[in-house]
Amino acid sequence: MGVDEGRGFVPAYLKLGLENLRRRAGQAYRELKSCRLCARECAVNRLLNETGICRAGRLVMISSYGPHFGEEAPLVGRHGSGTVFLTHCNLKCVFCQNYDISWEAHGEPITVRKLASILLSLQNRGCHNVNFVSPTHYVPQIIAALYLAARDGLRLPVVYNTGGYDSLKTLVLLDGIVDIYMPDVKYMDSDTAKRLSGVEDYPRVAKAAVREMQRQVGDLVTDRDGIATRGLLVRHLVLPGGLAGTAELVDFLAREISPDCFINIMAQYRPAYRAQQFPPLDRRPTRDEILEAIHLARGRGLRVYT
Ligand code: SF4
Repeated sequence: MGVDEGRGFVPAYLKLGLENLRRRAGQAYRELKSCRLCARECAVNRLLNETGICRAGRLVMISSYGPHFGEEAPLVGRHGSGTVFLTHCNLKCVFCQNYDISWEAHGEPITVRKLASILLSLQNRGCHNVNFVSPTHYVPQIIAALYLAARDGLRLPVVYNTGGYDSLKTLVLLDGIVDIYMPDVKYMDSDTAKRLSGVEDYPRVAKAAVREMQRQVGDLVTDRDGIATRGLLVRHLVLPGGLAGTAELVDFLAREISPDCFINIMAQYRPAYRAQQFPPLDRRPTRDEILEAIHLARGRGLRVYT
């Protein structure tokens, strides 16, 4: 992990400039007219509140927000990561660990102005970043809220905490806005992706997304206190029975992304939602399966966080 020795952190969106940020928000909103924000390409008019597979409409919906201490250490620091849990999801994982938010739409619609005030409140509470959880389907609203919040003094790094099923066009809209990309790369096998998340092309889309994220922000960088300020941090939830394709993923990261790529091997999978109907998802991964995943990542020389 690189160390940012520079004084006075300036987030990407402030370097981009307020006027450019405002223009980017307008550009992103136009995408809602025929929504192709993610690779589902539903082409519904979300400005008229039509909904596609993710079920998100015109207004952003959030489930909760606040300082979170369960994220990776470089995000949490002493005061927590300022997470905003967004309602709905463009993936349809049968084992979703947050299914009340993704499938059952727990949350409430809010205005972009309210979202901006939430971001500022997270900064006032001392959080080290603003961390959008499942942001893909709300990218226009997020950029617009960042514009308003930046205008009023936001200067925290932005974390884009995604399931990895992001279109390149949407990621390009975020170029120069996101400081830290945190994709949760779920599978490397198309049949598994189709069966468990309803997206056969997940491996291809997620790999292309990670390449673009790395192009934009590079390897993870922290400040002198160990707090992440910029870069790519890949997440990978170990699934039972080798369903997550860990060997192929770490090989891809080491060969095509960076030998210094930072990966969090997550061991907390538990059967949730409809997982009981999809063995071996009906059990937690064994200790050996988790150790094997860590061993594979370390064996490829990646920076492993567990
Ligand atoms: S963001 Fe939602 S509506 Fe838009 S393409 Fe993806 S799943 Fe469809």
